[in-house]
Amino acid sequence: MNICTDPITLENGLQLAEKYSQICNAGATTPHDVEKEGENAFPIFAKAARDKKLLAVGETGLDYYYKELDKNVQKDFLIRYLHLALECDLPVIFHCREAFDDLFKITDAEYERKAPAILHCFTGSLKEAEEVLQRGWHLSLSGIVTFKNSATLREVAKIVPLNQLLIETDTPYLAPQSKRGKQNEPSFITETARCIAEVKGVPLEEVALATFENAAQLFKNS
Ligand SMILES: [Zn+2]
Repeated sequence: MNICTDPITLENGLQLAEKYSQICNAGATTPHDVEKEGENAFPIFAKAARDKKLLAVGETGLDYYYKELDKNVQKDFLIRYLHLALECDLPVIFHCREAFDDLFKITDAEYERKAPAILHCFTGSLKEAEEVLQRGWHLSLSGIVTFKNSATLREVAKIVPLNQLLIETDTPYLAPQSKRGKQNEPSFITETARCIAEVKGVPLEEVALATFENAAQLFKNS
């Protein structure tokens, strides 16, 4: 799953998907960039979604970590992307950092209760993880779960049911512990999966199969 964040990466992603059948695309302007380029990019992502060129809408969401980002603009685009996902019957991929209260408030009002969603690169608390899971969403863990100082995230990994778990690279960022500082790539995902399997006390194969099946089910055309 390749995340396209602007019209250029969308164009590149669509070309890759044409060439390689195992690549599929999601698209949206991230909360970091909506103020600057959200308005121009929205109709382009909307067209790609309506033309069935995307298998998910996102990353959209809220990021309150960077104080200079306007919260109201982020909320406005989150709502627009939620409606686009519902209109096109696509799952939505959330980016959420230090903004779970508002994310839950907005999605409870604007997104259908049973509609599919993925909380990507989850780094919240145990309680926030429980609230994500209660909503029936998938919770996706990245290489961060393998970092030495990520004890809380490993507690989260323990409680995520296998049928709601996804793993991701977030490439080029967040390479797992033994590869920290390197450009991340899909082959590094085994280290993340192994860490989660150890924490959960299940075989690596079980984590691999469950997360593969979850992704195949969510991103239906893949
Ligand atoms: Zn993100």
